[in-house]
Amino acid sequence: MIPFNKPFVNGREMHHLQEALSVGHLSGNGIYTKKCQRFFEERYGYRKTLLTTSCTDALEMCALLLKLNPGDEVIVPSYTFVSSALAFVREGARIVFADSREDHPGVDEAKIESLITSRTKAIVVVHYAGVSCDMDVIMDIAGRHNLVVIEDCAKSIDSYYTGSDGIRRALGGIGHLATFSFHATKNIHAGEGGLLVINDEQFISRAEVLWEKGTNRAEYFRGEVNKYGWVDVGSSFLPSELTAAFLWGQLETLDEIQATRKATWQRYHDGLQPIKDKIRLPLIPDYATNNAHMYYIVCRDFEERSNLIDHLKSVGISAVFHYLSLHRSPYYKDKHSGSENVHADRYTECLLRLPFYNELSVSDQQKIIASLLEFCS
Ligand SMILES: *Cc1c(COP(=O)(O)O)cnc(C)c1O
Repeated sequence: MIPFNKPFVNGREMHHLQEALSVGHLSGNGIYTKKCQRFFEERYGYRKTLLTTSCTDALEMCALLLKLNPGDEVIVPSYTFVSSALAFVREGARIVFADSREDHPGVDEAKIESLITSRTKAIVVVHYAGVSCDMDVIMDIAGRHNLVVIEDCAKSIDSYYTGSDGIRRALGGIGHLATFSFHATKNIHAGEGGLLVINDEQFISRAEVLWEKGTNRAEYFRGEVNKYGWVDVGSSFLPSELTAAFLWGQLETLDEIQATRKATWQRYHDGLQPIKDKIRLPLIPDYATNNAHMYYIVCRDFEERSNLIDHLKSVGISAVFHYLSLHRSPYYKDKHSGSENVHADRYTECLLRLPFYNELSVSDQQKIIASLLEFCS
């Protein structure tokens, strides 16, 4: 069976794990944590970063930073992973779901403004498959309504957006806050792991406190106060040095990992051109780059997708569908009272992800492409 995903390990991780063990500082916020954080700040121009134990945790920090009151609203795309909404629900927010675009599973920027009320506090955007939303439109709406923009960049490492000013910016560096995932299914991973990006200065000092279990320990270590104590809410959001050391091993070969993934993506895209009128291939808008997080196709209907999954399975290929619209989820369907999200529902029923991982061989990929062409003929 060709699996759908296989976490990539390049061998550098073990070297850094051993190094961390010999240094002996194994709890959080040691040299590897600082190395990783500096890497992201320097390479992508993020104002301030904090490693976290997951993207979900980083989103929880965002929810705490918003200081939500019961009944406050947060706009979240319906076609996304549970975590994009969950963190805000736990802080008492009401989630207002936004639909996907007709031509792309990402949020329909044009529909966001009609969802804003006097209770709206923030907009969460998810760059689906690592392909940017139209951030000029979103930042303009947020600016006019005084809302915080949180980029859920779980899948968006090393991806960029070019705005109407012609400047190319890294995803995660545009919104006020952003979150990344280093879960084993993402381009760069540490088994489990995440990152909070803080681009808006006003959130930095409180984010450091939330990260360190509600204490002002960060200020203490910088010598800004002479003792530290409990000053706010928080949790243990920081990962151990073992996680950071593993992640550093991955970051050392980020460019090679990305080059391999982009070649894999392009082979699918070239190989599937003959069926592009029968099965929709992914769209990369002009303002977005492709970070080769995944390769997905969109079938005409649910039945066609089910048949295709069965066909691929019968020849030893594991292809999987993706999100189930959150506005129709068992947990939220009774709480949701907004618009219909017809495109999110269509992607729920019709989108299919093909096997995608660094060690996917060219011959296996050719077999997958041939099976798809055969299905369509
Ligand atoms: C993977 C993913 C998450 C969750 O990441 P964790 O690190 O597992 O918490 C959140 N949002 C999106 C869009 C994801 O794809």
